[in-house]
Amino acid sequence: MKTIPEREKPVKGGIILKQTKLLQSGKVKSVFETDDIGRLIVEFRDDITAFDGGKKDTLKGKGSCNAAVSSFFFQLLEKQGIKTHFIGMLDDTRMEVRRLSMIPLEVIVRNYAAGSLVRNYPFKEGQKLHPPLVVLDYKDDSRHDPMINDEIIAALGIATPRELETIKETALLVNRHLSAFLAGQGITLVDFKLEFGKAGKTIYLGDEISMDSMRLWDKKTKESLDKDVYRFDRGDVMEVYARVLHRISSGGNYP
Ligand code: 5GP
Repeated sequence: MKTIPEREKPVKGGIILKQTKLLQSGKVKSVFETDDIGRLIVEFRDDITAFDGGKKDTLKGKGSCNAAVSSFFFQLLEKQGIKTHFIGMLDDTRMEVRRLSMIPLEVIVRNYAAGSLVRNYPFKEGQKLHPPLVVLDYKDDSRHDPMINDEIIAALGIATPRELETIKETALLVNRHLSAFLAGQGITLVDFKLEFGKAGKTIYLGDEISMDSMRLWDKKTKESLDKDVYRFDRGDVMEVYARVLHRISSGGNYP
């Protein structure tokens, strides 16, 4: 495994967190170990990908934009009592997080029908889903993240029924808070994907919450404000991402 030059950064309380070994390099983020076994650093890179990595680009400023949005949402959720891996930002692109053992599930909450739901089932694009749907995919790019159910999850030993219940309840709670906040900014939260992990027996929300993992529509114009702009060449994705960051961060206090 590649060892990167050690960098140091002061964190709260004057404690120094040292970034050490590259643990994992994903499609758009890199995860580093630190000198604290319980803490990792997630670096949001300027890469963007779609269609299982079939389409990729590097866009200047994308990493810092998604890091800022993720940081904003993690803090909003923490204030509502939701346990997340977020500890703090070290700089524009590097987030200090609690080390988790990740659960290989993509937990997708859907408020309106779009994307794969419309492709695979007879829903109409934009149809309201009441109550919202929680759909679980098995996170494995080599298998194209197939949809999974509670029985398969138990048979594979991915999570216990009780853990799964906590994950689904938390995902719906996240949906309630994010939908309400975004509605206040004139944005409809169509759907989004979350990932969870464990530290000891406790389940935490991990990964990121950004325009890469959400579908957002402008309430008035129905314009896409998310990665669909990149997926389907609907315009300048960085301009759209920067606009969302601006709308979110000027959104005032929640609730
Ligand atoms: P769909 O199943 O319609 O492709 O995606 C539903 C929602 O989950 C969308 O907001 C999409 O961005 C997000 N999503 C689904 N799979 C992934 C994935 O592998 N990576 C990321 N970043 N988001 C995903």
